[in-house]
Amino acid sequence: MFSPLIDQLINSLRHLPGVGPKSAQRMALHLLERDREGAQNLSEVLAKAVEHVHRCQQCRTLTEQALCNICSNARRNRKELCIVETPADVIAIETSAVFSGYYFVLLGRLSPIDGIGPKEIGMDVLASRFAEGEIEEVIVATNPTIEGEATAHYISERAKAQGIKVSRIAHGIPIGGELEYVDGGTLAHAISRRQEI
Ligand code: ZN
Repeated sequence: MFSPLIDQLINSLRHLPGVGPKSAQRMALHLLERDREGAQNLSEVLAKAVEHVHRCQQCRTLTEQALCNICSNARRNRKELCIVETPADVIAIETSAVFSGYYFVLLGRLSPIDGIGPKEIGMDVLASRFAEGEIEEVIVATNPTIEGEATAHYISERAKAQGIKVSRIAHGIPIGGELEYVDGGTLAHAISRRQEI
């Protein structure tokens, strides 16, 4: 519709979650018409982030360091491990400030139909952490969706086989809800009132 480069920019912006054709067009034109400096800055930061941000070696969250800020903090509680689906869930739980252990980020959830099995959610790395013997309690904070529950069940069986206590956050998280969108108070309650499974 526009020139090839502008069309390309609009199509690229449409890859962002929640951005439809109209918003993509508005963003592209805004950057090109009114915010050249912002556009330049965005492209530089984006290129740098894509080049340097990778998974934390220990918990698989996103970071540009070998170990993320949480994993490299020696003052946290080594006996507790909270398992979440996404880096955004780590931020949500950290904001609620009720958990002081470490995290493991699955970067997804078991979904055989989509070809996501134990390997894709890092189960090999997680299993070796269970086997180290330092973790006493695993808190499974996957989302309360069908796949999230199946993932929680699978992980809890693996943890229990190593003699680790397993609990699941339960209270106040709406069925089918996403942790990222739950308010801090509800999430804090859900973690402090977790139930052993
Ligand atoms: Zn980490």
